Amino acid sequence: MSYPIKFLIVPVTPFQQNCSVAVCTATNRAAIVDPGGDLDRVKAALEETGATPEKILLTHGHIDHAAGATTLSEELGLPIEGPHLADKFLLDDLEAHGARMGIPGRKVVPGRWLEEGDEVTIGDCRFSVLHIPGHSPGHVVMVLSNKEVVIGGDVLFDGSIGRTDFPYGDHDALISGIKEKLLPLPDETVVLPGHGQATTIGRERQSNPFLQG
Ligand SMILES: [Zn+2]
Ligand SMILES: [Zn+2]
Repeated sequence: MSYPIKFLIVPVTPFQQNCSVAVCTATNRAAIVDPGGDLDRVKAALEETGATPEKILLTHGHIDHAAGATTLSEELGLPIEGPHLADKFLLDDLEAHGARMGIPGRKVVPGRWLEEGDEVTIGDCRFSVLHIPGHSPGHVVMVLSNKEVVIGGDVLFDGSIGRTDFPYGDHDALISGIKEKLLPLPDETVVLPGHGQATTIGRERQSNPFLQG
């Protein structure tokens, strides 16, 4: 399969979060998705692609996904898009949270909040935004226009789903969001999750223990 987009995955932070450099192969323009930290490695990966970065995309406000976004934005002169406004309280708290976790974190103020139905672009590639709360209130996922790939964050994993044992977590909302918005996608749609290996919608629809019944 040849995607109009390619992803170079860079696991970052002690949480081994899958930061990615997403490159539109037609234009050689890139977005950096969820730069939680380890920015030297993120920038080395960007250099390896040879692509021109144009923006930072955030799926949600958790520290392993967002703590490096402000510094990277300043260093490379890139705008930040996402997540949904409902994660503002998490982005506002990243510095204090980082200090508690021993991870360098800075508050993030996105230039653009995302909502259900919005379109996000990387070069010529267009993604539609789905708002799927539950793991965090403002979590968004991004579906490539040809439905070949989903930038999934911490919603749906290979054989699992995002944790919801936070004060603001909502297990039922997460399950219904996945069932209503992701499972209707084609079997072959690849899901790039925030942790662990990639999977497909068909595989998860069939065997993910959280999604049966
Ligand atoms: Zn998370
Ligand atoms: Zn995560």
